[in-house]
Amino acid sequence: MSAINVAKFGGTSVANFEAMSRCAAIVENNPNTKLVVISACSGVTNVLVELANGVPDQSRREQLLQQLVDIHFSIINQLKHPEVINDAINEILTKVSQCAEKATSETSEQLTDQLVSCGELMSTHILCQLMNERGHKSERFDIRTVMKTTSVFGNAEPLLDEISIAAQAHLVPLFKESIVITQGFIGSDLNNKTTTLGRGGSDYSAALVAEAISASGLEIWTDVPGIYTTDPRIAPQAQPIKEISFSEASEMANFGAKILHPSTLVPALRHKIPVFVGSSKEPELGGTWVTQEVESAPLFRAVTLRGNQTLITLKSLNMFQASGFLAKVFTILARHKVSVDLITTSEISVSLTLDRTNTQGGAPQLPAAAQQELEELCSVVVEQNLSLVALIGNNMGQAKGTAKQIFGTLEDHNLRMICYGASNHNLCFLLHESSARHAVQQLHRQLFES
Ligand code: ADP
Ligand code: ASP
Ligand code: MG
Repeated sequence: MSAINVAKFGGTSVANFEAMSRCAAIVENNPNTKLVVISACSGVTNVLVELANGVPDQSRREQLLQQLVDIHFSIINQLKHPEVINDAINEILTKVSQCAEKATSETSEQLTDQLVSCGELMSTHILCQLMNERGHKSERFDIRTVMKTTSVFGNAEPLLDEISIAAQAHLVPLFKESIVITQGFIGSDLNNKTTTLGRGGSDYSAALVAEAISASGLEIWTDVPGIYTTDPRIAPQAQPIKEISFSEASEMANFGAKILHPSTLVPALRHKIPVFVGSSKEPELGGTWVTQEVESAPLFRAVTLRGNQTLITLKSLNMFQASGFLAKVFTILARHKVSVDLITTSEISVSLTLDRTNTQGGAPQLPAAAQQELEELCSVVVEQNLSLVALIGNNMGQAKGTAKQIFGTLEDHNLRMICYGASNHNLCFLLHESSARHAVQQLHRQLFES
């Protein structure tokens, strides 16, 4: 079979009938696109998360359910044959309503995943019907058959061998006859319980299936024409980047550039699959290519911002000139499956931030049991309302004056923690969330706009 391209469309790209029609046109334009991975329609996952967190007030619950009906039926009613999918959508909406009621008495991450998966389950029905009506034989595929994951609801990890075997068995044979439309974000564990890959996880899903079917390319279609020097919503002067290396783009995704889920580039890099990021609204503007080799490696490439940071500071006099303290701390954290992101140490203390949050959202929490065990070892201070700003670039450790340029720009800010040195590609710092956007704007102006 010839080269297969995977196209992923995010929530805004499938927000309404016109947006979905643009996606269809993009797919039609590339005969190699055999697999289409999509998100829920814009706003739907947020509504589902709210319901999953438990909405005891019945009228509010009904209001949210009505929003879901309106979003989906305003698209479905523009189809030529809405009757083909009406029942399927109504069935999913009934399930949403039942789960939402259940969540009023008891919430759980497993129930959250059942609920939030309904967004992608609905959007795929609609896009598939639209593609068929435009004359392209398309098939909706339930990705839970292939996207096997751990049972960590809300933040499941893919099981690569299982995914690869299932993709070859169930997905690849379909490409001969049809364009396959499937869900991002969702999967299922080995007991076939629905799981999710964390908010924004559709990008990661697309990369994982692209890897599993040995795709020749992966396109991420979103609402901006490529990866920019910073979030254009924060700094309107941000510029699109034509070409970026996997390592730079991975650092950007990891440090908060929302345009890509943090893990997206890992499978693409493993299989050397070139990734394109573009706007489904304006495909003619081109976009960003993420590849192994790039022509330029500028000192400063981009600035990113990640909110909702949790900083833990552990302090103990026993740490002074002692060995094994950090090992004990990390053993406790590992036992409670707490993933650490950044870390700095001093003579008697260590500060660390917790890794990304799950589908339920908010700042990551230190589990009470882990805190209790840590408190037997040292004092524990937890701080929130912090944001992380990262400067992504190349060979920053080899260029004189870099630190002066960066920190000179930030003289009005109170930096809570600085991490630099482990990677040549980034320098990052924590500061109070109220001044983070301003810091990004100042850094961008100083380093990218002059
Ligand atoms: P999708 O629903 O298509 O996955 P997202 O909202 O998750 O879209 O991601 C696209 C958004 O990412 C853009 O609208 C933009 O505001 C934001 N963003 C953050 N950082 C960047 C960046 N460096 N370049 C481009 N967009 C960025
Ligand atoms: N629909 C999910 C979310 O909003 C996944 C995604 O869009 O990538 O987080
Ligand atoms: Mg996204």
